Amino acid sequence: MGSWACSGVAERRGVAPHSRSAPKPITPLVISSRGQESRASFADALLIKKTTYGRMDFSDGSDSSDDEMPPIFEFAIHNAVESGDLEALAALLQHSAGESVAEGASVEPVSVPGINSRDAEECTPLHVAILHGKLDAIQPLLDAGARVTQNCEGSPPLTMAVCMGSHPSYERFALAASSLLLDAGAVPFERDDWGRTALHWAAFLGLTDVAQLLLLRGQQWAEREAAQDSDAPAIPPLQEFQDKAGNTALHLAARHRREGVLHLFLRADPPLRVRNRAGQLAAHAAALGGCQACLVALEAAHPAAAEARDRRGRTPHTLLDLRRGPRGAGSRRAAAQPDGADSAARAAGAPGPPPQTLVLAPPECWQHHTAPWPRARASPEPPPENVGRLTALTHPTLGALRGAEAGPVLWDEAGKRVALGDLLRVHDWSYVRGIQRACEDLPDPGVVGGPTEWGAPASARAERIVGDGAEGGEGAAGGGAGDARPDSSDTGPASAEAGSSMAGLADPLGAALPPPPSIAEAALGYLDGDTAVSRGTWRAALAAAGAAVAAVDAVMDRDSPVRNAFCAVRPPGHHAGPAGAVPSARDPHATNGFCLFNNLAVAAAYARCVYRGRGVARVALLDFDVHHGNGTEACVVRAAPSLQRVPFSTPYSEGVQTFPVYKPWLDADDKDNIFFASVQGFGPKAEGMNAYVYPGSGATGDNRIADDAARSAAGIAEDPDAEFLPTGEDSVGAAPPSAPRVIDVGIGGPGTKVALWRRSWRDKIIPALVNFRPDFIFISAGFDAHRKDEINFRYIGVTERDFEWLTDQLVQVANLCCHGRIVSVLEGGYRIQGGKVSAFSRSVAAHVRALADDHRMEWDPKAAEWEREHEKQVRAEAEAKRAAAAMAAASALLNRSQAVETGEGQENGEGGDHAGGEEDGARKRRRRGDGVDYVALNKLLEEESAGTKQA
Ligand SMILES: [Zn+2]
Repeated sequence: MGSWACSGVAERRGVAPHSRSAPKPITPLVISSRGQESRASFADALLIKKTTYGRMDFSDGSDSSDDEMPPIFEFAIHNAVESGDLEALAALLQHSAGESVAEGASVEPVSVPGINSRDAEECTPLHVAILHGKLDAIQPLLDAGARVTQNCEGSPPLTMAVCMGSHPSYERFALAASSLLLDAGAVPFERDDWGRTALHWAAFLGLTDVAQLLLLRGQQWAEREAAQDSDAPAIPPLQEFQDKAGNTALHLAARHRREGVLHLFLRADPPLRVRNRAGQLAAHAAALGGCQACLVALEAAHPAAAEARDRRGRTPHTLLDLRRGPRGAGSRRAAAQPDGADSAARAAGAPGPPPQTLVLAPPECWQHHTAPWPRARASPEPPPENVGRLTALTHPTLGALRGAEAGPVLWDEAGKRVALGDLLRVHDWSYVRGIQRACEDLPDPGVVGGPTEWGAPASARAERIVGDGAEGGEGAAGGGAGDARPDSSDTGPASAEAGSSMAGLADPLGAALPPPPSIAEAALGYLDGDTAVSRGTWRAALAAAGAAVAAVDAVMDRDSPVRNAFCAVRPPGHHAGPAGAVPSARDPHATNGFCLFNNLAVAAAYARCVYRGRGVARVALLDFDVHHGNGTEACVVRAAPSLQRVPFSTPYSEGVQTFPVYKPWLDADDKDNIFFASVQGFGPKAEGMNAYVYPGSGATGDNRIADDAARSAAGIAEDPDAEFLPTGEDSVGAAPPSAPRVIDVGIGGPGTKVALWRRSWRDKIIPALVNFRPDFIFISAGFDAHRKDEINFRYIGVTERDFEWLTDQLVQVANLCCHGRIVSVLEGGYRIQGGKVSAFSRSVAAHVRALADDHRMEWDPKAAEWEREHEKQVRAEAEAKRAAAAMAAASALLNRSQAVETGEGQENGEGGDHAGGEEDGARKRRRRGDGVDYVALNKLLEEESAGTKQA
């Protein structure tokens, strides 16, 4: 996060009334939609909607002194689409089309004004229709000139439609919407910014019918093109298209165990011999995904695949064995650690329920409001941390974690509050009490913003909403709206409960219909410039920390199949220290940065204290949010006794008072049993700027760097290339050696640094983590280092593939060290634009997918070493190429200058160059730029390593 509140929040997106001088007669219109016809006058339609569409607010003209038609406010079409109000949509389209004709803008096929305009979230009405599953709105929009080529968050509408099918209740929508879009001219070969076609996504999500449709339309398209221009190069079959990691749709179907799609592909000349950037065939991908049936089918179609080796020399069967983990490891551990017998037995493949990932989504977290709510499209931008983030993840049908992209998971939506004693292991009582007071002092949203249902028990809420008809509930819950209610029953009791608890509470994308309850500005309070609270925040914060604690219990429960857990909670926590905001030299007036209780530290301290008799002694806390986990670090440091210096000033004196502080998580051994590492952007917000990326701490450092004895015990080299040495920069991260081990890696910027980010984990932190031998791993999972997230000031710039890679690495460490025990808690990540295809949704889904991938691979230092050496080799080759190019350029220059000296001039045409002075300068500039393209190189390396896991 950053100092958001000072950044001009109140900027108003102005409404844009039409400037028309001549009144227009009110004409009857025919609304036709999927066979339904009704006749209404435009004014009637508007009158009907007047009370519903706050932003449209067509006046009926009766009070108007002149006779003008009322203005249409911006986003009216978006709003009508989102609410699924076809009548209003038809009225708007007809009205706008009529206007454009009247103004002489167009007499040909009408493209309605505003039909392709983008709202604040950069969505056109067509995007809105797709992301909210409004099938009936799509055809009218297409008829009105909606473009099928306009991307949303890097995805063409066709891809978006396919991605909607990740939830079972939208599978039919995905098929029907894809068909409409293809009919309207969408190109089946179009790629998104992953280089993927819609077919890739259909394969990834296991949508066999959609894949079939796309294959057919792709073939028809290619035939049509060939017939029109017989000289043009033939378009390759859609199946053969490769994404940026080199994967075909067949690779993805195999990797993600989509047998239906795989068999569909196998019937039609599949690209069995195509390798991805990791040198892997689809058969390797099937092995990596643990899909034995897929592997058998692929080998039957292509017997040579069984012996094919990837870039690392591994056959599909080697990969399958790797995935199963080292044989007998489970029983060895069971003997060494009786308390872990249950999960060790599971790890050894003993009978029992398969290990699973639990997602905890307490409904109370929706009650934490940071902006007036619900939000209309034209209202001021809300703070980045708002309830829309939860909708993106856990909405019953539209949430990314409910669909196929996250993999099969268990759900816990009970919402337990954290016990005060658990909270006070890391926080000071005065701070906790202060938060409670700050929230309780705020007015009841019901008083200032309309009726509230916060106070009602969940069951009462559910009844009210069910009996509430069109007015309430799902309409608010974000677009899926009317569709979502019946669908939610498909997802089982847990999500049905979630549906009821979420209904009416949130709408991330800005609904047209303001449902109760609403939150007015007066119901909000501010702890600091960044951190807003509402009356419901207190409960939300208790539930967020409570979820992290409940996740520990679930993972440790001998009778549950839960191996690891993800907490989809807010408010986040990693900037909250023992007493809240953590000042640093660069930010003495620190803020809480959206955070209230340090959910992660609370859970880790709980695990160390409560499960000390069950084999949990050593807890590791890791943080990959783009912002330094300064709060967590402060909690960790406080677990060892220290002296706090507090400056004071009175009318008579000033000075510094020193007093001892100590918040043990368990006992005096905390120092050796807690481990914290954080990788973040560290540097000025922009070049030449004094202000640093929030929170201004987190320079590279390691308070045990000299402690070689501990490291050599496990014998894994940390930072073998000495790339992450302490910078000596003043930072809150300067934890004393008397504290638990703290490692910070501050990545400079701005600018994309993906390869460096991966190396910091692979070469520095993970080896240190393995040497530490954790009994439980805790992750502060922030997704704001994504290159599309604007809050990171262009620092780091990873993608969802990097989050998936890192998560998988940590799962392997957990498999090696602690029976797979991981609890991950949501921190940052704000790019929710684009719903299903947003950077945030996809990143969290990738993280949870990697947690849920039920393999027993164990982290292997040799694999890391291979990657390291491979990267060096690629770099050396690139360097050699660069040197050769420079040599060639130098000798060409020499030849040319000799030619000039001998008076031959430029007529000799060497290289076709002209020798003019100015151009020479340009050439020199070009040559200087001829060095290694590190951006491209990093990308290549990153894609290669991504390919090894993701296939
Ligand atoms: Zn962050």
